[in-house]
Amino acid sequence: MPPRRKRCSTPGCTRVGKGDPPLCERCWQEELYEEEEEIEENGGEDLLSRILSHPSIQGLFNRGVDMVSGKFDQLSHKLDTYAAMYAASQTAKAQQSQPRTPEEDPRIVLGFKPDEPLTEEIVKKRQRELSKIFHSDRGGSDQTMARVNAAVDELLKKL
Ligand SMILES: [Zn+2]
Repeated sequence: MPPRRKRCSTPGCTRVGKGDPPLCERCWQEELYEEEEEIEENGGEDLLSRILSHPSIQGLFNRGVDMVSGKFDQLSHKLDTYAAMYAASQTAKAQQSQPRTPEEDPRIVLGFKPDEPLTEEIVKKRQRELSKIFHSDRGGSDQTMARVNAAVDELLKKL
């Protein structure tokens, strides 16, 4: 709904006014000039603070403040997001740059080459072969089989 148009409050003026009391642009300027003269006569009140205290200027000023603080909120939200993304990328980089020891790499544990194509069948076949070799009945250890099984689980998850 458009704001209801108010008439300038200066007696005899028929133009449309803004603010409270409503003043048309011309009367407002005249009032300012009068105030300016008054200020010069009285010597010293700050004209700028009078201008800034006018309702229409105050409205503009508040809208400006709202806009700026809105932009600031948006910007700080963006910066938070970027900071979080940066932190995540740094964590990912740190994890990547830490090479796994041969004992940790499931391919090495199971005797596969780094670029050897693997299927579930191939991995499980290797598990069966290794369990024959490292079975505790044949002098292997449960610890070794636990490592083999953990490596199999990890590889199968990545397939
Ligand atoms: Zn007027």
